[in-house]
Parts: sequence; structure tokens; C-alpha cells
Amino acid sequence: MEQDIFCQIAEGVIPTTKFYDDTWVLAFADISPLAPIHILIVPKKHFTSLNDLGGKDEGLLGHMILVAQRLAKEHGVALSGYRLIINCGPHGRQVVPHLHLHLLGGRELTAEMC
Ligand code: 5GP
Repeated sequence: MEQDIFCQIAEGVIPTTKFYDDTWVLAFADISPLAPIHILIVPKKHFTSLNDLGGKDEGLLGHMILVAQRLAKEHGVALSGYRLIINCGPHGRQVVPHLHLHLLGGRELTAEMC
């Protein structure tokens, strides 16, 4: 079965500029940024969507959020503010079938974004 684009990025098959990398997650710039700061925090293990997580994955989800907080500080948007988004499924407008957290900031965001 063909791997999704984020599995390929996580495995280094498709090169990207990494902002953060550890055993569990990878963070890189969104290819079509919706804000001056638009970073994707992606688990290395494949989960198609948030629906695939169970109780044992609480730590991973918390880790993803703390990595986003760290990146917000590193990119200078912690004080001005930012938004974290996980789109899930068709009505959530999830396009890439691999769980990911959007970090958006660098300007005042609209109510409708993402
Ligand atoms: P979703 O709607 O699934 O939550 O968002 C998927 C995001 O992945 C979109 O913001 C889109 O721009 C981004 N994206 C899609 N393909 C690529 C890619 O190949 N590289 C990067 N860096 N981002 C991608």
C-alpha cells in the first residue's frame, strides 16, 4: 500500500526543512501556509486521524501540544498568540490522512480559518 505524504516525510523519503524532530514527532513548515507561522506537528507513527487514538496515546497527544507550544515560543508567537488545530474527517476538512496538528500564528487569525 502506498504511504501517505506525511509518512514519507517522516521517513525522509521526501525531504523537508524540520523545525523539530524526536522519537515520536516531526515538525515542518506547511507547504501552503495560511499564516506567517504555519507548522505541522506530525506523529512518526501512522494514525489516519484523531479517531485512531486511544487511551494509551494520551502521552503522544500531550507531547504534540507541548511541542507546538515550544515551537510557538521559538518562532516568537507565544505572546502574540496562536492557534492549534486538528482537522478530522470530511466535515473537519482533513485532507492528509495522517494525524497532524496545525500551529498557526504571526498575525491575527480570522474566525473561519482552517
Ligand atoms: P488538513 O486539511 O489535512 O488538516 O491539512 C493538511 C495540510 O498539509 C495542508 O495545510 C497542506 O497545505 C499541507 N500539506 C499537504 N501536502 C504537503 C506536503 O507535501 N508538504 C508539506 N510540508 N505540507 C503539505
